[in-house]
Amino acid sequence: MSTPSPRLETLLVHAGEEPRVDGAVTLPVFQSSTYESGDASSYHDLRYIRLNNTPNHRALHAKLAALEGTESALVFGSGMAALSTMLLTLLRPGDHLLAQPGLYGGTHELIVKDLAALGIEHDFLDPDDPAGWDRLVRPATRLVHCEAITNPLVRVIDLPALAAFAKRRGLIATIDATFATPVNFRPAAHGFDLVMHSATKYLNGHSDIVAGSVAGPAALVDAIRHKLNHLGAALDPHACFLLQRGLKTLAVRVRAQNQSALALAEHLAAHPAVARVHYPGLPSNPDHARARALFQGFGGMLSFELAGDDAAVERFLAALRLPIVAPSLGGPETLVTLPARSSHSGLDPSARRAQGIADGLVRVSVGLEAAEDLLEDFDQALSAARVARSG
Ligand code: PLP
Repeated sequence: MSTPSPRLETLLVHAGEEPRVDGAVTLPVFQSSTYESGDASSYHDLRYIRLNNTPNHRALHAKLAALEGTESALVFGSGMAALSTMLLTLLRPGDHLLAQPGLYGGTHELIVKDLAALGIEHDFLDPDDPAGWDRLVRPATRLVHCEAITNPLVRVIDLPALAAFAKRRGLIATIDATFATPVNFRPAAHGFDLVMHSATKYLNGHSDIVAGSVAGPAALVDAIRHKLNHLGAALDPHACFLLQRGLKTLAVRVRAQNQSALALAEHLAAHPAVARVHYPGLPSNPDHARARALFQGFGGMLSFELAGDDAAVERFLAALRLPIVAPSLGGPETLVTLPARSSHSGLDPSARRAQGIADGLVRVSVGLEAAEDLLEDFDQALSAARVARSG
């Protein structure tokens, strides 16, 4: 009888945990910058925290590769370190990349400012016109980048079509799967070559570290590791330890967040003080059928616009009691933020509005509080926003 392959929940708990150190059920923090050289013959095989190969790094790499269903994985000092190191490994001056519009603000800035300054050109493809993607491919095009669920409008592009397009045109398909998590979507199974995360968010899940990850074929991940070793954005062993601990509960956290976000999105969509709700789990959402077909859950992120003016938004934020007004996402606490003032504040206002991000758009990262408490609190804050408007 063949051994059954473990399911995601089991991998989250057990993958990468062997061998145990002196019987310890939890891998200790190896707070040592350097290690005896042994028989290392290459620079990249010396053991040193910046070379990303301490026991804490190796355990995490094995766990993340198992979760994503890839040969290999690598952790970084932040999500932006993962993204920038990955892109700088794969692209050279003169190269060209294609990207989905409406990406996380930091990613957008990296592509349009930092990579452009290095002579790496880009075009944004129209998500609603797959037939037009071919026309954007140049001889120098190397890569296509997208997000599984975009930030903050939670759009879902035709991901299998994008991966198939990349394969057909010989491009590397990279995806930021931060909002989806491996619980809801595993991109490697749908043809993506490299899957990155801001592990700061759901993967760690406790709002207490910044970290990033990339998973994919060993040859590509190894090339990215060599670049990371030179650029130096290594994750500290204590942060590795926290990320490994956070990952063990990923499935139960994300499933609870899927449920509460759906309940909140439905509630807001039916509320007279709310003009528009963005959440792929709502049947009225333009990407609903696609998200339903691809994802195990619609995620813990949603955004919405109030019916009132900007002052109503201020009153709403001031009246909230449970959610914390703060950037970032994926932790146990519900966080709300205005992307125009946080994740997308670096974009000029016209670029932001062209992407459909209104100044009053509220983004919500639904936490692990009781959904009923959240709904009640949103209700009282929406009433506070309305009362003052009519008064
Ligand atoms: N990708 C997405 C989708 C994000 O939301 C973020 C941060 O908010 C990042 C990448 C960058 O991650 P980090 O803040 O860990 O560098």
